[in-house]
This record gives sequence, structure tokens and C-alpha cells, in this order.
Amino acid sequence: MDFDKLVDVYEELEKTSSGNQMREILSDFFKTVPKDDIALVSYLTLGQISSEFESAVLGLAEKTVLKAIASAGAISIKKVKEIMHSKGDVGLTAEKVLQKKPQTLIPIGKLTIHDLFDTLHKIVKLSGTGSQDKKTQLLVSVLQKASSKGAKYLSRIVLGTLRMGAGDMTVIDSLAIAFTGEKKNKEHLERAYNICPDVGVIAETLARDGLKGLEKIQVHVSRPIKMMLAQRVKEWEEVVKKIPGTLAAEGKYDGERVQAHKTKSGEIMLFSRRLENITDQFPDLVEYIQKQINAKEFIIEAEILAIDKEGKHLPFQTLMQRRRKYDIEEYIKKIPVQAKIFELLYLDGKSYLNESYKERIKQIEKIVKKGKHLTTADRIITDDVEELKKFFSEMLDDKQEGIMIKSLEGVYQAGTRGWNWIKWKKDYSQDMIDTFDLVVIGAFYGRGKRHGTYGALLCATYNTKNDTFETICKLGTGLTDEMLASLPGKLDGDKVKIKPARVIAKKEMEPDVWFTPTIIVEVLAAEITKSPFHSCASGLALRFPRFLHFRDDKKAEQATTSEEVKDMFEK
Ligand code: AMP
Repeated sequence: MDFDKLVDVYEELEKTSSGNQMREILSDFFKTVPKDDIALVSYLTLGQISSEFESAVLGLAEKTVLKAIASAGAISIKKVKEIMHSKGDVGLTAEKVLQKKPQTLIPIGKLTIHDLFDTLHKIVKLSGTGSQDKKTQLLVSVLQKASSKGAKYLSRIVLGTLRMGAGDMTVIDSLAIAFTGEKKNKEHLERAYNICPDVGVIAETLARDGLKGLEKIQVHVSRPIKMMLAQRVKEWEEVVKKIPGTLAAEGKYDGERVQAHKTKSGEIMLFSRRLENITDQFPDLVEYIQKQINAKEFIIEAEILAIDKEGKHLPFQTLMQRRRKYDIEEYIKKIPVQAKIFELLYLDGKSYLNESYKERIKQIEKIVKKGKHLTTADRIITDDVEELKKFFSEMLDDKQEGIMIKSLEGVYQAGTRGWNWIKWKKDYSQDMIDTFDLVVIGAFYGRGKRHGTYGALLCATYNTKNDTFETICKLGTGLTDEMLASLPGKLDGDKVKIKPARVIAKKEMEPDVWFTPTIIVEVLAAEITKSPFHSCASGLALRFPRFLHFRDDKKAEQATTSEEVKDMFEK
């Protein structure tokens, strides 16, 4: 398939500000895509060249892309820089430069999706001395074949700045419509996607073998599984109602969740909450897992915590300093970690997703040799609410967020916020009702002291049913001057000219600047109230929202959902 066919779709998507229209455009297009190309097209719709967890890094800087554009257009780099200066965007620069292509002796043909893919994956594989030149040459070869419009999007894809507004669930919905004729079948796709969060595999399996093919998708070690989430309740009594009889409670640790996979060949891979491969950030943890877990092949989950020399837990912000590409060895010493294992999803050839929690922890206790840096979650098993409350205060004394209450018979509900896990946090026992993970979708310019930067952020929840982002508050409190000054740098890469298609906002809440939903902030609020100005659950807002910190470990679709806010409001 020609890349230009996809480029026409990009053009249409760029113009729409309606989520439904976006799904219509995509599903109509998917119907026309050959089976061999559907996986690649699905990734490219998201501006990716593979699944997110494969972390295919092209490693191309803006400077390199401009150089390639100059070479493909046979004009000087100086001229290209001038055009870049006036256009302010690499994509538009590529389009302009390549409007008049230099003549070649042998016609070079059209750029196909397969060509583009092969070349970009060749670029990913190149490393070491001289690799930058080789990468540039490969990029020149595809730019020469692309149309001028194609070059515009191609440049954005390679720089990771293509913002079409579609998310993975938009693609899943559109695939359901395209290949099964009905959006309601998306449930089947979602179930498969929870254990195989790779849009390419889902798209190709569906195109080739239909819904039956999807049913056969199994857990695969080295491919992350979407993580199970916890429900919340307002009163202790509700916990007992939801999980009657004997239950388990574990500490709710304020760290970073990790899913660790060990393959038969002995390789260990770590995946974050957003399912990114974070193995390189924690070589120390890889070693502890290698030494202290006595099994050949497994998938486990743990919370990673920063600890001090005595092994005491340190706050989440300290751990975030371990999110880095450089100076890793230095930071292993500076900020040592401890992983508290709380889940087992796969062990030596067998999936444990449908086994009870009781069985899963039995196996964990069998295979883990506990030590300072790798251990299991603190846990009690009880049917006594008083004992539960005592454990809760012990966890608070230990500076944890609270406790996780778990059903002993519960299965692992991948990607789902089910009632087998209930969280109970310290904020519930104070005036503040809870924390919310909100996605930043816009900003308002600051006034007075905040002049020259953003004064407030427009924040939204995620509506899972409609795959939309709904506004819930304007956030200005809790941001320090230093943080305010850093906001444009953090957010402006996601700036878009029109309201992103999946964002639902009232006229009164139109911000000065729109952002593609990407960045998550954790916010503490005092109350949920009705509001005619916000679109969350048809009109709910947060009162007195206060910024706590950025949650770089979460992605837009992992924000607090509108359904959760509605539930909390009704309670
Ligand atoms: P929340 O993000 O508030 O919905 O809480 C769920 C998160 O709590 C999980 O994603 C984990 O990162 C974290 N967590 C901490 N301790 C545990 C535990 N014992 N079991 C499950 N999740 C835990």
C-alpha cells in the first residue's frame, strides 16, 4: 500500500475535532488496508513504528532531520534553516522543500508503507560510530520517495511529534467497526488487548482470523500485560460488603509499579505502568530478581520504592530521580531501591491470571528469597475489621499511602478496575477526599507574577466508554514559581492549534492553549461538586484542586476516569 493513502487519512484526521468522526474516518480506511499492512498502519495511526513496549528508538534529532530534508531536496542546509525559521515546524519545512523535487536519472518510485517501515526499523538498529551518517542517508532515501505531503508527516513520525489525536482505544474501536461491522464487539477486542496490548497484533489477528482468532491470544512472556487496578470506597463498611468474609490486606506503597518478565532463556525485562520497557533504568533490580527468584520463567508485579541506608522507605519524588537515561550507576548508589512483590501472573509454562489470589500468593511465597532489596508485600489475612484498621495505621506509621484490600478468591483482572482489589488511603480519613490523576489538556496564560508563563492548567478525566477526555478543573494552586517557569518546556511539545478531537470541553472553559492529552498530574481535592462549566460525567468539577506532582509513569488513558468521579460523587 502506498504511504500516500495513509497521508490522505492523516490530512482528514488533522481537520476533525470530533472523536466519532475520527473513528468513522479510521474504520472506513481500515476496511481498505491489505492484511499485510494493517499492523503497520495501526502503529502509524498512533505515530509509532511498533508497539510502545518494544521501544523502537529512532534516535534522530531535529538537526539530523533538517539535514536529510536539505539533501533530499538538493538545497543548502542554510536555506532549509531559513524555511524552518519562517514555518516553525519541521513537517511544514519538509513539505515546502520537497514541493519541487530534484530530477533523478532513474525514477525512484513511490514510497510504500512497507518500504517506510523497513527503512525506519533499519534506522532503529543502527548504533555506534558513523551511525548518524547512515541514519541520515536512510532518511534521505525515504524522503526522496515520499510526496511533499508525505514528507511532512514522515518528518513528524521520525521526530515523534505526530499528533493525530487518536489513542490506542480509538484504534481498537475503529478496528472493531471495520472488521466486525459493530462497535459493540470492541469488548472482545479490549479483552484481547488487555493481555496483548499491541495494536498491531490485535489488528492483524482480527483481519486474518476474526474474533475467533482474538480468543486464542494468550499470555506471552516478554510482552507486558495491562495492569489490574483497584476500586475505591468511602466507608469501611463498604469494603466488607464488597469482599465479605476473610480477606487479605497489603501495604499500599507509594512507589512505581513494575511488571517483571523472565523468559526461558533467562532474560529479565521490566515494564512500567505505561508498559514502557524500563529495564535499563534498574540494572540493580534485574540482578536481585535474577538471584532471588527461584523459577525459570515468570511474570511478577511489584512496587519499587526508594530506600535509605537503613532500608527505610523514601517518598515517590525521590524514586523519580531514578527515571533517567544517564548516570545510572551513580544513581543506583545514590538512590537504592527495594521492590515489594505483590503479584504473580505467570510461572513456568502456566498462566495464573485465572487462578485465585490465594493460589498466586502461595506460589510467590514459594519462589521468592526475601532480602533488603527484593521482598514480598506486607500482608495480613483476616475477617476482623478492627485488625484491618490496626494494619492500616501500622502502614501509615511506616509512611505508606494506605492499604490494598484483596479478595482471596479473586482472579487477576488484566487492565480492569475490578472489585477484587479495593484501595484505602490516608487521604480518606482527612478532610481532603482523595487524589486524582488528571490529564493536562490546556493552559491559561498567567497574569501578574505569573506573566510570561502559564497561570493555570485545564485538567481532564478519561471517559473509558466514549474514549474522550472531559474537563474537571482549572489547576493553579500548589505550583511553585520554579515549576511554573518549567511548564512551557514540559508542555509545549504537545501544543496543538485546535481542540484535540477526543477532548470534550464547554465554551466557558476554552483555554488559551490546547494540548494533546499526554501529561498526567496528581491533584488533591476537597470536594466534587456539580458544575455547568465542566464536562466530566456531564457536569462535575473538583473544588480546591491542589497540584501534588507530575505522574510521568502514567499515560493519558490511565487518568482517573469520569465513571470513578461520578461514583465518588454519588457516594
Ligand atoms: P491507584 O494508582 O491509586 O489506583 O492505586 C493503584 C496502584 O497502587 C497500583 O498501580 C500500584 O502501583 C500501587 N500499589 C502499591 N501497593 C500495592 C499493592 N500491595 N498491591 C497492588 N498495587 C499496589
